[in-house]
Amino acid sequence: MKTKWMCVCLLALGFAGSAAGQGSAGGQTAQEPVLPYIPSLDVTSMDRLADPCVNFYQYSCGGWKKNNPIPADQTSWSVYGKLYQDNLKFLRGILEQASADSGQRKEVTREIGDFYAACMDEPTVEKQGLAPLKGYLDAVAELKSAKELAPLIARLQMVYGRSLLFAGGSTQDPDDSDKVIAELDQGGLGLPDRDYYTKEDAKSKETRERYLQHAQKIFELMGETGETAKKDADTVMRMETGLAKASLTRVDRRDPYKLKHKMKPTDLDALAPNFDWKSYFAVGEYPTFEILNVATPDFFKEVNGRLTGEPLDNWKTYLRFHVVDSASPFLSSPFVDENFEFYRKYLRGAKEQQARWKRCVQYTDRQLGEALGQAFVEKVFSPELKQSTLDMVRRIEDSMAVRIQQLDWMGPETKAQALKKLHGIRNKIGYPDTWRDYSGIQITRNDFAGNVARTSSFERRRQIKKIGKPVDRGEWGMSPPTVNAYYNPQMNDINFPAGVLQPPLYDAKLDAAPNYGNTGGTIGHELTHGFDDEGSQFDADGNLKNWWTKEDRGKFDARTKCVEDQYAGYVVVDEIHINSKLTLGEDVADLGGEILAYMAWQDATKGQNPTARDGLTPEQRFFVGFAQWACENDRPEDLRVRAATDPHSPGEYRINGVVVNMPEFAAAFACKAGQPMTKPAEKVCKVW
Ligand SMILES: [Zn+2]
Repeated sequence: MKTKWMCVCLLALGFAGSAAGQGSAGGQTAQEPVLPYIPSLDVTSMDRLADPCVNFYQYSCGGWKKNNPIPADQTSWSVYGKLYQDNLKFLRGILEQASADSGQRKEVTREIGDFYAACMDEPTVEKQGLAPLKGYLDAVAELKSAKELAPLIARLQMVYGRSLLFAGGSTQDPDDSDKVIAELDQGGLGLPDRDYYTKEDAKSKETRERYLQHAQKIFELMGETGETAKKDADTVMRMETGLAKASLTRVDRRDPYKLKHKMKPTDLDALAPNFDWKSYFAVGEYPTFEILNVATPDFFKEVNGRLTGEPLDNWKTYLRFHVVDSASPFLSSPFVDENFEFYRKYLRGAKEQQARWKRCVQYTDRQLGEALGQAFVEKVFSPELKQSTLDMVRRIEDSMAVRIQQLDWMGPETKAQALKKLHGIRNKIGYPDTWRDYSGIQITRNDFAGNVARTSSFERRRQIKKIGKPVDRGEWGMSPPTVNAYYNPQMNDINFPAGVLQPPLYDAKLDAAPNYGNTGGTIGHELTHGFDDEGSQFDADGNLKNWWTKEDRGKFDARTKCVEDQYAGYVVVDEIHINSKLTLGEDVADLGGEILAYMAWQDATKGQNPTARDGLTPEQRFFVGFAQWACENDRPEDLRVRAATDPHSPGEYRINGVVVNMPEFAAAFACKAGQPMTKPAEKVCKVW
C-alpha cells in the first residue's frame, strides 16, 4: 500500500487512469523494442500566432493540442500519456520476447513472460468465465453470522479487494518514521470518491443512477434475474452511501493530524466491538502488534453499527458485488466489457476499449513492476544518464538552500530547520538498488486471474510482514517504467523512475534551457513538496512534528493562501472550479519548482552565454520547455472525475498559474503590465 501522504506528482497515469495509447494492430508481434525520439522542446508543438503574454499555454502547446487528438481508447491525452504509450509498446516488445517459451529463460524473464502469456491467452480466459472467483463467492454464500465476516473479509482483501469494506495494511509510524505499524483506513466504495454519494446536483444524481445500473448488470452477469439484481444494486448503493457519509473528504485527508489516531488493539475492540478483529488479523497474517493507527475512527464506528444493523443477506450482497466488480478486468469479456462501459466510458469518456496487449502490459507492470523494470532499465537507462540527472538534482537542491537563506519572511530558527530537512532528503534516481524478489509466486501460463490473485496476495503479505520491522528506506513506490515522480514526506525522499527521465521530458540531446525548464522544474516540484501545506508538517526524519516558529508558520500559511485564492478562480469544466484546497500542495510545488529550476539553470550556465535558437532566446526556451511537459487534451467526463479526485490542476493552469507569478517570465517575453500573463507586483504569490 502506498503511503497516504505520498505526493504522486504529475498526472495520475497508470492502469486505471489514462495510460497506453493510439490504435495499433492487436495481434501483431513487436520487433526488437526501440523508443522513438521526440525532442523536449518541439517548435512544431507551439502556436506562434498566439501571444505568449495573453495565454502562454496556448503559445507553447497550441500546435501539440491540434496535432494530438485524444485516441479513442484514451480518457485524456498528454505528453506524459503519450510517452507512457511509447513505453508500453517498448515493454510489449520485451514481454513478447520473454513469453516465447524457450527452455532457458532467466527466472525474472520467466515470471513476466508467463504472466503476460496467460493474460494474452484470451480463449482460456473466456472459457473460465466467472470460475476463478468460485471459491470466494462460495465462501460469501456460506457465511453464517455477522461474526464470520471478519475472517472472510481478511481472506478476500488478500486477493481482489485490498480496500474491500475498508483498507487494512501497514504504515510508517507518524511519530517514529523508522518503525512500521499496522493501519486501518476508510474504503469500501465503488465510485471514485465519497462526494459522489452525497452531492445533490443533477450530474451527481445521474452518476448514481448509472452506478446502480452498473451494479445491476454485474448481478445479472452472476446469474440473477433483473428484478433481484435491481434490488441487490439498491442494497449496495444504500450501504455504500452510509460508508461514504462516514468517510473523510479528500481535503480533510490533506491534514495529517486528522488521520492520526494511534491506539492499542483493545482500544480498537472498544471502538468497533461488533467486528472480530482478532480473527481478522489472524487470517490476514498480521504479526502480533501493540499499536496500530486507525486513520478514520468515525468510519469504523459506522461499519460497527452496520454489522448488527444490516441483515446478513445484505452483507452477502455487498461482498458478492465487490468481489466480482474488482476482479472484472481479469475475467471473461462480459465482465471486462461492463467494467469498461461504466468506469472508463461513462465516468471518463473513453470511446473504445484498449487493445488487449496494452492492458496486459499494464497488468504486468502493476503486478510484477520490479521484474519488468529490470528489463526496461537494462535497455534505456545508462549510468551516464543517471549521473547527469543526479547532477541536476544536486544543483536544484543547492538553489533551494540559497533560496531558503534568502527568504525575507522566515526567521533564522525556522531556516535552520528547513535547511536540515533539505539536507536530509534522499535522492532516488532511475530504479531501486535491490530488486524485489518474486520467485516464490506461482505464475502459470494458463491461469490469468489466478496469477493476478497470487501476485496481489504476495504484495499484501509483503506489506503486512513489515509491521514491527524497521523501515526499508531503499524501497520504491513506483515501478521503473512509470512516467511520473513522487515525494514521500515520511521517507523524506524524492523518487524519479527511469520512465520519466527520457525525451521528450529529459533530453540528453538538447541544451540546458529546456531541460532545466522541464525536468529541472519537476525535480524542484518534488523538492518543494517537502515544504508544501502538507509536507511542511513533517520534519527531516519524516516524523509528524512541528519545526516552525509560530510566527513563521503564520506567514507561510498566508503565502500559500495567495496560491489557493488564485487557483480557486480557474474553471476546470462547465461550472466546476478548481478545488484549490485539494490542489494546494501541487500548485505550491509547481511554483516553487519552477523558481528553483530557473535559479539552478542560471547557475549551471553562468559564463556560457547560450544563444538564441529557433527564434527563441535561452530564457524563452527555458519557459517553453517548461510549458511543453504539460501539453494535453482532455475529455469533459475525465475532467469531472479529476476535479473531484485529482490533487493536480489541469495542465493549462499548471503553466499559466506559475508564469504569472514569475517576473522572469514577463521579462523573457517583454510582457506589459496589465496583460493576462502578468500580475501587479503586490499580487504576486511567492512561497519558496
Ligand atoms: Zn506533486
